[in-house]
Amino acid sequence: MIIDVVSIFPEYLAPLDLSLIGKARRDGLIDLRVHDLREFAHDRHRSVDDTPYGGGAGMVMKPQPWAEALDHLVASAPDERRPRLVVPGPGGVPFTQALARELAQEPWLAFACGRYEGIDERVYEHAEHDLGLEVSVISLGDYVLNGGEVAVLAMVEAVARLVPGVIGNAESLVEESHEDGLLEYPVYTKPASWESAPGVTREVPPVLLSGDHGAIAAWRHQQRLERTAARRPDLLHASQAVRGTAGAAGT
Ligand code: SAM
Repeated sequence: MIIDVVSIFPEYLAPLDLSLIGKARRDGLIDLRVHDLREFAHDRHRSVDDTPYGGGAGMVMKPQPWAEALDHLVASAPDERRPRLVVPGPGGVPFTQALARELAQEPWLAFACGRYEGIDERVYEHAEHDLGLEVSVISLGDYVLNGGEVAVLAMVEAVARLVPGVIGNAESLVEESHEDGLLEYPVYTKPASWESAPGVTREVPPVLLSGDHGAIAAWRHQQRLERTAARRPDLLHASQAVRGTAGAAGT
């Protein structure tokens, strides 16, 4: 998979050299390229922002450097291939595990990191209509960050770990939170009996030591239901609604 990231702070993306994503890059599973937007700004100060038309606070990212950066990415392909353009923004569709799975199917993703009050709207039009890109504005959550870089770190990590070969044991992906609408069960490791404070011993639930796989699976499922009901009842209602609809349709 090719991933391009355009930002005025390329150093912000340095953590993508670490851990499993860094290894995936070194193994050639992910070709991640970070570009400095200022390379595409040609005035004396390499400025990328200006005051907003219509007035108001803050600055807006200028169309010209962004258009040149996107043109450069498209021209870098040896053929007619085009990246899917992801623009992080608080006004986008919510980033979910399902969307991460969808993006992980793409052979080429380009991320455009906005700053200030965002990017001139005509850049989206240029990308979609002049360059023929599929453009997705995606939000990390209902809050406002200073720039798109932190959102890109999260999105790239969530997407890249779904690319075949990036996570050694693919089974660990199947059982995770948000894969089937429920949160994951609590997990434990050795020792079975742990002294967390003087005179206080905390035990692993006995069923996990029983060797009874059926009982363990049933306990884990119950824990998932209880945890989801306590922390994210909205998820439980959504998955019940889906099952209810499927039942009504006789599937
Ligand atoms: N004025 C914009 C608005 O109200 O929608 C917010 C601009 S924000 C200060 C600057 C940049 O941070 C955005 O262009 C976007 O790239 C990024 N950003 C902020 N919040 C985000 C979020 N929840 N999800 C994804 N990106 C976000």
